[in-house]
Amino acid sequence: MCCPSWVVNSEPDDPAIDRVPADLLETAACALSKNLCDHCLGRLFAKLGFGLGNEERGRALRVVLAMVGEREDESTPFISREILERLPVHKEDIQESGMEPAPDTPTSSWNEPSSPSFNRAWMEEVSEGGKCWLCEDVFHSLDELASVVLDEASRWEFSTFSVGCRMDPRTVEREQLLWQECGGVSPEPIKEELNREIGKRVFERLDGVEFDRADPDITFVLDPLYRSITCQVKPVFILGRYRKLVRGIPQTRWPCRHCRGKGCDRCGGTGRMYETSVEEQIGKHVVKILEGEDFKLHGMGREDVDVMTLGTGRPFILEVRRPRKRTFSPVDLEKVINEGSGEMVSVHSLRRASRKEVPLIKGAPSLKRYRALISSTSSLDEEKVKYNISLLAKSPIEQRTPVRVAHRRADKVRRKWVHEASVEVLSDGKAVIELLTDGGLYIKELLHGDGGRTEPSLSSLMEIPIEVETLDVMGVLFEDEMGTKEGVESHGKKVQGHNGKHQTDAQKEAQE
Ligand SMILES: [Zn+2]
Ligand SMILES: [Zn+2]
Repeated sequence: MCCPSWVVNSEPDDPAIDRVPADLLETAACALSKNLCDHCLGRLFAKLGFGLGNEERGRALRVVLAMVGEREDESTPFISREILERLPVHKEDIQESGMEPAPDTPTSSWNEPSSPSFNRAWMEEVSEGGKCWLCEDVFHSLDELASVVLDEASRWEFSTFSVGCRMDPRTVEREQLLWQECGGVSPEPIKEELNREIGKRVFERLDGVEFDRADPDITFVLDPLYRSITCQVKPVFILGRYRKLVRGIPQTRWPCRHCRGKGCDRCGGTGRMYETSVEEQIGKHVVKILEGEDFKLHGMGREDVDVMTLGTGRPFILEVRRPRKRTFSPVDLEKVINEGSGEMVSVHSLRRASRKEVPLIKGAPSLKRYRALISSTSSLDEEKVKYNISLLAKSPIEQRTPVRVAHRRADKVRRKWVHEASVEVLSDGKAVIELLTDGGLYIKELLHGDGGRTEPSLSSLMEIPIEVETLDVMGVLFEDEMGTKEGVESHGKKVQGHNGKHQTDAQKEAQE
C-alpha cells in the first residue's frame, strides 16, 4: 500500500523521504507485535512528520492501523487480531483529537514539540495490559526525571547545560532487536528522545540558561532506571600573569620522588618535595571562591625552583575543576590572591579564558628576560666580561639537554639565540648579567657551560669557571609583545630571521 499523503508532503526535501518503504504500516504493525508505547512506536519513524513529536507519530500510526484494520477484506493480512487488540481506538477519540498538527508553542524551536492538548489517558489505556516492552514506560516519568535534574541543577551555577541519559544496556539491546526485526525509517535511539524530552522540561523551568549540546557549562547525566544523577562540569579557566617573589618554591605541586605522594620518612609524611608552589599560592584562593574541587596551573614555560620571576611576570592559565560558581570579578580575585599570597606570589591582568587558550599558552613562542648574579673562582675583569657577553648575542647557541634535566627531557641539541646581553661587575667581584633570549634556552647552562654541553657559553668564551648564584626571570614576552615592547623590536624580527619558524615543540619541552 502507499504512504499517507501527509507523510510525504511534510518535508519533501528530506532525502529520507525517498527511502520511505511502501510498507510503512507493515513496519508499524510488526513493531506492535510487541507491546509498545506511542513514543517507542513513533521513534521508528522519527524523520517523518517534521514538527511532530514521536508520541504523536506513534499515535497517528496506531489510529491509521486501526482504521485500515477495520476494513473487512484481506488486503492487510499483516494486521493480525493480536495487533488489532492493541489498537483500542474509538471513533470519538479520533474526532476529539482531530489529528491536528501541534500548535505553535513557545518551545517550537525544539525539533519536536509535543502537543500539550494530548490525551494521555488514551496512551495509558494502550499500555494497560503491561508496561511498554521497550522503554518500560519511562516516558510516563519525564516530569519526575526532570525534577531529579532540577534538584541537582540548583546546586550549580551555569548558563548553558545539556542532559544525557545513561541507558540500561538491556533497553538498548531490545531497541536494536526491534530495528532488526521490523526496520523503521531513520529510527531515533531512545536515548536521544529521552535527552531531548527531559532537557526540554528542565529548560522550561529554569530562568536565564541555554541548552547547548556542543560545549555546555554542565552536563547532567541521568540514569532513568535508578533515578541517579552525576554531572560533568566544564572547568573555569582564568588567564593572567604571575610574579614569583621568592626562591625555593616550584611552579606546580611536586610530589615526593620517593613515595610518589603517599607520604614517607623522606618527606616527613607530606608526600611532597616542597611545602608549597606558585600553583597552590594562586589556586587555593580561587578554588575557594569558585567552590571548585581542584585546580591546575598551566604556565608559559616554567622557572626553576631557585629562580624568581619578576618584571611583568609569566603568563599562566589557572584551571579550576568542578566549580560550583562560575562568575567572578577579576579585580576582586586579583586582590584576594595578592593579599593572601603576596609575599610569595603576586598576579595581575587576570581575565576569563577558555580551554582552547591552554595549548596556546603552553606552546606560544616567546622571548624571556633574565637577570643572573654570577661569580667565579677567577677574577671577573669588567672589560673582558663585557666583551665576551656581547659575543653570546652574535652567534647561535647549540645547547644539548642539560645533565640536570636529562632524566625527564629528550636528549638532543637545541639551537637558540641570545638577543640582548649586558653586564655590570659589582664591587665584591661578582657580576649581574641581564639577558633577553629565546624561550627554551637553559640560562644557567648558557653561563656555566654544563661541561661543554652548551656551546658557546660565557664560561667557554672566558675560559674560566662560572658559578650562577641566583637567576631571576624578569618577564615572559608574548608573541604580540615582541614587536612592540620598547627596545625589543629589532630582536623580535631577529627571532623570525634566525629560526624561520618558531621551534614550538622544542620550546614546549624545554625549561629555562
Ligand atoms: Zn515505550
Ligand atoms: Zn615521600
